[in-house]
Amino acid sequence: IVRIKKLNKSFGDLHVLKDIDMKVLESDVVCLIGSSGSGKSTLLRCLNFLEKKDNGQIIIEGEEINPGTQDINKVREKIGMVFQHFQLFPHMTVLENIIEAPTHVRKIPKNQAVEEAKELLVKVGLEDKTDVYPSKLSGGQQQRVAIARALAMKPDILLFDEPTSALDPELVGEVLTTMKELAEDGMTMVVVTHEMGFAREVGDWIVFMHDGRIVESAPPEVFFSNPREERTKEFLKTTS
Ligand code: ATP
Ligand code: MG
Repeated sequence: IVRIKKLNKSFGDLHVLKDIDMKVLESDVVCLIGSSGSGKSTLLRCLNFLEKKDNGQIIIEGEEINPGTQDINKVREKIGMVFQHFQLFPHMTVLENIIEAPTHVRKIPKNQAVEEAKELLVKVGLEDKTDVYPSKLSGGQQQRVAIARALAMKPDILLFDEPTSALDPELVGEVLTTMKELAEDGMTMVVVTHEMGFAREVGDWIVFMHDGRIVESAPPEVFFSNPREERTKEFLKTTS
């Protein structure tokens, strides 16, 4: 569903992504791991066209995407993103947050958007919070609303950038559970995470980045029990 070929990105003199080659298959969960500054967020942002690549190819559903030649907003509609900080609209209720994009961007009728939003809230376990404002929710609940909001756009792929790292430890589990359920529903996901338990259990494929390069990529069984690269071994020591 996604193919990246020889992607490079620099910020000034800083070469942040170096010849990245990667693919994401339909319904797969790809977990992107690596130490701070290795380029994980930049890679996700390139995938979502929030950041412009320098060169290389990004192919989505068989079509090479180049801002300028395509309507990038159309492409973005297919790619949802959930950030570390949930960024809900504070002046809108949970329901209003979720129907905002579907009614304004997908332009579906409001009653249909409300119906869909309610189904999504059931899915993330927050059907009783429809009319509540974000400030009254826990961080974990806010993040689950953010996931429902991303799903409301019916994306083909969902990107997560450390969705649990701003949460209190006791709230991490509920968000990971929601993500795991999405994965079981067949959602295609790319997840930047420090949660190795999640990566091992839910990931179909692990991609380890170091210093702007993909050092190793493998299925979790292989990656965690039998890493090939010295760098990977060192990294895994720091996380266990
Ligand atoms: P973390 O685990 O801390 O989130 P990361 O792997 O997501 O790290 P990135 O955020 O992709 O790393 O950053 C990679 C490098 O690019 C870092 O050295 C960072 O300082 C630099 N960088 C990121 N965004 C910008 C920017 N907009 N302008 C300049 N440099 C940037
Ligand atoms: Mg990051």
